[in-house]
Amino acid sequence: MSNGKNRVWRLAKRPEGTASDNDLHLAEEAMPEPGEGEALIRTVYLSLDPTNRIWMSDMDQYMEPVKIGDPMRGIIAGQVVKSNTPKMKEGELVMGVGHWADYMLTDGRGLSVIGKPGQVPLAELFGVCSAVGPTAYFGLLHLCEPKPGETVVVTAAAGAVGSVVGQIAKMKGCRAVGIAGSDEKCQWIKDECGFDAAINYKTEDVGAMLDRYCPEGVDILFENVGGSIMDEVLARMNDFSRIALCGLISQYNATEPVPGPYNFKQILMHRIKVQGFITSDFAKDYPKAMAELTQWMGEGKLKFRLDIDKGLENALTSLNKLYDGSNQGKLMVEVSEVAAA
Ligand code: NDP
Repeated sequence: MSNGKNRVWRLAKRPEGTASDNDLHLAEEAMPEPGEGEALIRTVYLSLDPTNRIWMSDMDQYMEPVKIGDPMRGIIAGQVVKSNTPKMKEGELVMGVGHWADYMLTDGRGLSVIGKPGQVPLAELFGVCSAVGPTAYFGLLHLCEPKPGETVVVTAAAGAVGSVVGQIAKMKGCRAVGIAGSDEKCQWIKDECGFDAAINYKTEDVGAMLDRYCPEGVDILFENVGGSIMDEVLARMNDFSRIALCGLISQYNATEPVPGPYNFKQILMHRIKVQGFITSDFAKDYPKAMAELTQWMGEGKLKFRLDIDKGLENALTSLNKLYDGSNQGKLMVEVSEVAAA
């Protein structure tokens, strides 16, 4: 926006079920001016993440919920427009926690400078390395410690996080079995990402297919979904197997209390280690993860798909693609273009 206005999505009320434009409003507001110690950031990409729906709610969660009336929180890649802080210079690209808005003010907290225009392939770096890649990396490698020959099952396997998990599992010499919601997604993770097998949970009997593709049981479950799919995998976990509990997307829009896993007893019977995690728990290890992920990307070892919608005004419609499975890879909105340095 260059007319002196700033569009901001504000949370009007807490959604029940799928978030709609009754819950979030796109307001046109005056352009903010950075004070001393502040910078004005123009959003280039807004990442749309399943957790956005959690932040809209007031459920017990790992961060403060977004307050009613506040700008919607989102992970952004942006460019510094004006700066009154030594932390960032005009024209630099930044990444981190921001707002669903054309522009925002920052004192630098929660944002990292990642370079100048032309120095980094911004969409790829932002899409794969800002959250998704490190989530896959830490959840699989730090929590589950995969060993060659082990069987790793990944749910939401064709998604942004899941597809990276399967590929890292393969690099570590494991068998990777993915569960996804369409034949096209199953084909993609097998043909492009190198998964050994894929199960379409919408058309196939997940339990029977797990028996076929995991004849020696499951050593690692990277869980993104929850519900009945997780129960089927739980029933096939080996002794001393591990679960990285990364997400429970099947529950984020629930309007009623969701039942617990029916196969919870398996954790006892098979001495399964289960750990929930949030990527930021591993902040101190980010540089190592980023270095390896960018190296794998550069070498063409890490395949990924970016699903980029255009226009801040489409953020909410776009977000809901995550919950009906119509996103094809890492979902984000292009809000503006990078200006030359
Ligand atoms: P994805 O790109 O995987 O998109 C979400 C996918 O989830 C959809 O495409 C859909 O794929 C699947 N899905 C949605 N609803 C259901 C359902 N009811 N049952 C089964 N599958 C469903 O998103 P992300 O990669 O960004 O996120 C994946 C998971 O990782 C989420 O649970 C998210 O919360 C979690 N996450 C956790 C982080 C952490 O720090 N712990 C950080 C980032 C993400 P399909 O077509 O296969 O159904």
